[in-house]
Amino acid sequence: MQQTKQNLILKNGSVYTVDRDRHWAQAIAISGGKIVFVGSNEGVESFIESDSTVSDLGGKLVLPGFVDAHAHPSDSMDLVANISLHLLDSLKKYQQVIAEYVERHRESDFIRGSGWDNRLFPGLGPNKEILDALVPDRPISLVSYDGHSTWVNSITLERAQINKDTPDPDGGLIERDPETGEPNGTLRETAMQLVENVIPDYTISERKNALLAYMDMAARAGITLSHDAMLDAQSIAAFKELEAEGLLKMRFRGAILMEPDHEIENQITALLEKRSRNRHPYFKTNAAKIFVDGVVEGGTAYLLEPYEHKPAFSGEPIWGPDLLKEMAAGLDETNIQLHFHVIGDAATRITLDALEYARQKNGKRDSRHLITHLHLVAPEDIPRFKQLEIIGVPQPFWFSVGDYYRELALPYLGKERADSQYPMRSFIDAGVIMASSSDFPVTIPFDPVIAIQLGMTRSQLGLVPEDILWPEERATLEDMIASFTFNGAYANFLEEETGSLEVGKRADIVVLDRNLFDIPTTEIANTKVLLTLVDGEIVFRDSEFALYGD
Ligand SMILES: [Zn+2]
Repeated sequence: MQQTKQNLILKNGSVYTVDRDRHWAQAIAISGGKIVFVGSNEGVESFIESDSTVSDLGGKLVLPGFVDAHAHPSDSMDLVANISLHLLDSLKKYQQVIAEYVERHRESDFIRGSGWDNRLFPGLGPNKEILDALVPDRPISLVSYDGHSTWVNSITLERAQINKDTPDPDGGLIERDPETGEPNGTLRETAMQLVENVIPDYTISERKNALLAYMDMAARAGITLSHDAMLDAQSIAAFKELEAEGLLKMRFRGAILMEPDHEIENQITALLEKRSRNRHPYFKTNAAKIFVDGVVEGGTAYLLEPYEHKPAFSGEPIWGPDLLKEMAAGLDETNIQLHFHVIGDAATRITLDALEYARQKNGKRDSRHLITHLHLVAPEDIPRFKQLEIIGVPQPFWFSVGDYYRELALPYLGKERADSQYPMRSFIDAGVIMASSSDFPVTIPFDPVIAIQLGMTRSQLGLVPEDILWPEERATLEDMIASFTFNGAYANFLEEETGSLEVGKRADIVVLDRNLFDIPTTEIANTKVLLTLVDGEIVFRDSEFALYGD
């Protein structure tokens, strides 16, 4: 972290404040980590002292720091160590990367990694024989890029005692060869836990390195606050050590997983206890994560109408509706924020029902519950978000007609539903607060400027927008920026401190190399971050960006 002088002055910029009236300004003065002035170039002069650091922005765009309202910073281990299959686009490349890693790690007792893509394995997931050929002698476990499946070899299955006769666990699936009934090597959802004892967990120091790497990537992307959507005891320990060492350089808020097969009361007690222990301004755990269903590509999303490829099957919820109600009401009562993973339209509906029940039981309160993904939502359910004051947490990175649409959405959901994936504008028009996010490492790269463009075009980057996913759902630039700044702060109970550029707020600020309001929409994703400030401290500065008085 570079130490700035006490006062930092940004002048001659295009400052989009994202305050209530969405005011524009020219200059900002920062002192003691806070914004002390927002206004004109003339007005800022009186804040310039002999020891101030001053930057003339030449008209560049200044925004509040970006907020990623749903990500998995504590899940970046495989990007730093282990096997990363993220961004590879063929089985052949997977085989190469695995073979090279295995060759370099002959001493390891087991091998871990992640990032494979269901799109390369339509129908059944990848099979164990592919891995047996590469790793015959040790267990290997590779988690899919979306975190909902794991791919293992024969030795892993053997040591975990998973065979033909092993029943599927509740909420999970052991995929099997259709002829022999033998497990094929792909484990979905809760079945992933069956191999936990064979493949040991990551160490705290591996986790800390991963978080440090994440913070660097986030600072480069202009992100100053991230909601870690699934913390466990080990990742919390890693955060706490970094906190104690003074190495956290951005704000984190976090959610802790609730499990349907554990006693609800005990889980609530544990959450409350963690909440009271994690109180650092840069690391608080005030939310509970609930998986209501799985994912479309795993056939685990819970739908109102059957899947296109399985006419008698609509998926199942991970939490039954009654248990979901009981849990939601219990958490809501203790002011724990609920953060629901919801994909299918039936999952959306039972989640809304559960939150309606919680409100009836506990009364109206400032609970700011979050529903993320919102892959399929029945139009009549959208106004219920506003009524119940639920915040929508979409991933606009996914708003396009691409491989996913053609290879998974069309065959699994059929054309009508494929064309109504990921509503956005309807939510905004209904007055719902939408806080955008990446779901990193599901999405890499995770720069918000990419999602701002996709939210506006709903069409793939770099192409003339011919294929537009549900054109009516395109959002405005103003709304997309708000969804990545103020709304994200609000979704984390931080709108008094950050999320807009106003006097008295913490100086969480980003400077971009071009003004998003002056360029063609199709160029927004190419925008570079020049400067990122958290609490007035420089956490990232591009080499081209000049500061005087350094
Ligand atoms: Zn997620």
